[in-house]
Amino acid sequence: MGKTIFAGCIVSLFLPASCMLNKSSLPDRLLDNNQQISLTVSQDAVRSDCDTLVITCIDYRFVIANQDFANDTLGLKDNYDHISIPGSIHNLVNPETRSLLFSKFALSVSMHLINRVVVVSHRDCGGYGGSAAFGSEIAEYETLTADLKMARDLFIEKYPTLKVDLYLESLKKEGDEEKVHFEKIL
Ligand SMILES: [Zn+2]
Repeated sequence: MGKTIFAGCIVSLFLPASCMLNKSSLPDRLLDNNQQISLTVSQDAVRSDCDTLVITCIDYRFVIANQDFANDTLGLKDNYDHISIPGSIHNLVNPETRSLLFSKFALSVSMHLINRVVVVSHRDCGGYGGSAAFGSEIAEYETLTADLKMARDLFIEKYPTLKVDLYLESLKKEGDEEKVHFEKIL
């Protein structure tokens, strides 16, 4: 179509510190001589709105799984905004930081006519101080699921017609492989 399309709807509120430490050994083709690059976007993405806002933590261990989960498991490919922020909705449920977070989330909801929000939190989240901050697996689970449910209540209070889906993810060993496990929180 000859148009330059902003590739994806990703909004990054903060740069993940972990990325600074894990520099890729692959060459960055844009570092040399002001070179430019164009990436093709799907025709399905060439429109002015999308249905869903996905909110996740920035944690690098879950990045690929989060994309696969949204694209394939939830069937949202080319149809979602993605806000990635340390601790996922941790700062949304905190009254001191709630208004700032809500203003960013609300921008997506109003700008792209969002009718569904998918919130994903994860165990061992640095935004909460890691698993060690909770004292037990049960305490961690109860806090994370309570925060997810509070985030849902806050969204629905502001946007009563919004559908809000909650998921908790964790790393699990399966044989020699480490897998990301998703649990739907009702
Ligand atoms: Zn996290």
